[in-house]
Amino acid sequence: MLEYQAEQNSLSGKVILVTGAGSGIGRAAAIKYAQYGATVILLGRTVKKLEHVYDEIEQAGYPQPAIIPLDLKGATEQNYKDMADTIEEQFGKLDGLLHNASIVGALGPFEHIDIPTAEDIFKINVTSQIMVTKSLLPVMRKSDSASIVFTSSGVGRKGRAYWGPYAISKFATEGMMQVLADECENSVVRVNSINPGATRTEMRAKAYPGEDPLTLKTPEEIMPTYLYLMADDSKEINGQELNAQ
Ligand code: NDP
Repeated sequence: MLEYQAEQNSLSGKVILVTGAGSGIGRAAAIKYAQYGATVILLGRTVKKLEHVYDEIEQAGYPQPAIIPLDLKGATEQNYKDMADTIEEQFGKLDGLLHNASIVGALGPFEHIDIPTAEDIFKINVTSQIMVTKSLLPVMRKSDSASIVFTSSGVGRKGRAYWGPYAISKFATEGMMQVLADECENSVVRVNSINPGATRTEMRAKAYPGEDPLTLKTPEEIMPTYLYLMADDSKEINGQELNAQ
């Protein structure tokens, strides 16, 4: 999907929330969506990083973004309900939701899986996405055409040794996408997933410390698929597993 080219203002008038918008792929997606005209809501746990992205978007002259500081590990359903109420009050609708934030944990053999760490991974990568989606679906139904995008991984489509709870959480992500896409069939909301592929970020460097990052695509280079799924060009696409590379 690296060849997709969006029209210049294809996201104009859209409101799009990106989780984990402070760095890596989430940061690139937030800036790209703003560049194409969207008002982006930057959700993440490190406020300083979100503020940097906010400043970059403002300085570029793109639509003024908003920041929601939230730690997906500790947030409760009430926090998400409050977030949905705020979005409805301020914007009246939500057109896009990019579930991007996740953690990888330590890689290693199955017998070495640390259960508290596994529970954190499932909370951040899976349960929080259920809660975010559940709370935001009503305000997304107020859009003419809304898109929910989950972020998967190669190890969420074919299991691989030593990827433990992270891989299991990404299979759950694909399952969540399929269940929700089926429920949303013939509605204004479409639901799909992206596997970004190997991308030059902190997470990748942590998982592959010996790798030369310069051999990898940058987050900016993999943005065509992220743009496509938020633009109306993908209106008919639902329940699909896409690859960004
Ligand atoms: P990064 O680790 O670089 O960025 C992840 C972002 O998620 C950070 O901004 C981080 O915030 C945020 N985040 C993590 N935990 C929480 C939390 N508890 N609450 C709120 N925000 C949180 O990852 P990438 O950009 O590489 O990955 C983005 C997505 O792409 C992930 O879902 C990942 O699984 C997937 N992916 C990435 C690949 C790659 O090669 N990079 C390959 C396949 C899939 P903070 O900085 O504050 O911690």
